[in-house]
Amino acid sequence: MIVSDGHIVACDPQETVVRGDIVIRNGRILAIGPDARRRAHASVEIVDASGCAIIPGLIQTHVHVCQTLMRGMGEDLPLLTWLQKRVWPLEAAHDERSLHASAELSLAELVLGGTTTILDMGSTHGYDVILDACLRFGIRVFGGKVMMDRGRGVPGALRESTKASLAQSDALCAHWDGANHGRIRYAYAPRFILSCSERLIRETVERMQAGSFLHVHAAEHGEEKKAVRRAFGADDVDVLSRWGAKGPRCVLAHGVQLTARQVRSVAAQGTRVVHCPSANLKLGSGIAPLDELMQAGVAVGIGADGAACNNNLDAWMEMRLAGLLAKLRKGPARFSAQQALNRCTIEGARVLHLEQEIGSLEVGKRADLLIISLNSFAQTPVVNVVDTLVFASGAQHVRDVMADGKWLVRNRELLGHDADKIMAEARNQAKRLRQKAGLA
Ligand SMILES: [Zn+2]
Repeated sequence: MIVSDGHIVACDPQETVVRGDIVIRNGRILAIGPDARRRAHASVEIVDASGCAIIPGLIQTHVHVCQTLMRGMGEDLPLLTWLQKRVWPLEAAHDERSLHASAELSLAELVLGGTTTILDMGSTHGYDVILDACLRFGIRVFGGKVMMDRGRGVPGALRESTKASLAQSDALCAHWDGANHGRIRYAYAPRFILSCSERLIRETVERMQAGSFLHVHAAEHGEEKKAVRRAFGADDVDVLSRWGAKGPRCVLAHGVQLTARQVRSVAAQGTRVVHCPSANLKLGSGIAPLDELMQAGVAVGIGADGAACNNNLDAWMEMRLAGLLAKLRKGPARFSAQQALNRCTIEGARVLHLEQEIGSLEVGKRADLLIISLNSFAQTPVVNVVDTLVFASGAQHVRDVMADGKWLVRNRELLGHDADKIMAEARNQAKRLRQKAGLA
């Protein structure tokens, strides 16, 4: 197949932007650039991308697919109250039907908006339902059930014994890790330090050291930081680090409260950080030190977090906000559109150790790519295509989505799924979930 005559934004080390074609064979990029067409057979399918940008599939390294059904149900609250009064009761009320509806709603929104890879954190139960939906939607997922064996305000239905939490996570990992031709990878997910015992974290660290990922919230909100200091006499990143939760396979979501010393220590460990600007603004948590983390050499990805605190799963909005907030903090010259786009492409791939496979458009890499229409009022005129993508484009401009050489979206239509049915079921299940949680 040839994707032809687009503005290719490669997100490679040279930051190549060039008009040309991409030749795809067996799910990988065979040739790319103005002369690429010569490498293709005469009879191949040609997809016209003229007037469009071609970019890598977007990567969001912190989302909660199980929370999408809770969109609009957690308004105007700070983090700990939001968890105790809304998210935990709603997660506790989830059953297979509501999780299925939440997953389909999430994945439809994510894939249509151009997200082809996620790092997801589930609830304590029902994670099979989420991974099963990921398999059907063709998205690449790193994910795992959330782990919670202690904590104030945790409903009985979510609180697990340390042993059961580990056993259930291990069983999911054994069943799913590597499924769908390696497109599903298990990531252990202790929720945050206030809901996890030292033993739970340390045992999870052992699994990380054996090759899994450890995905945990850290340094998110000021009020949480105070509660952590009261409980442990130190900050969560320092305690987690002492317990072994650090290093290249450890992914910290948020990092808003990181001090300069902690930024240096995270960098030295190789620990990954995920910036979630919308969620941090909406819960009043603050602005993460993105510039400092990048200067220190930390791999920083971007994630929409959950629809219960965002209220959407739109990578475009997160990229744009990351760029705007970085400029607010450090001056307009400091953070380019390309650096913002890289958070959701090659840097997201680095967070997940997949930078050899995805995250940029280069020969030999997997064909995860998007065709972005540039033909709207809001995008006209295009002076620099990367600026147009980050500061003037959105999910509504994603025309086609390909993952591993297979189309998931053509001409704004999700292939193989009924959009109206997904939304109708989501409305029904959201109503049921609120009632079950006693919030209706
Ligand atoms: Zn989160």
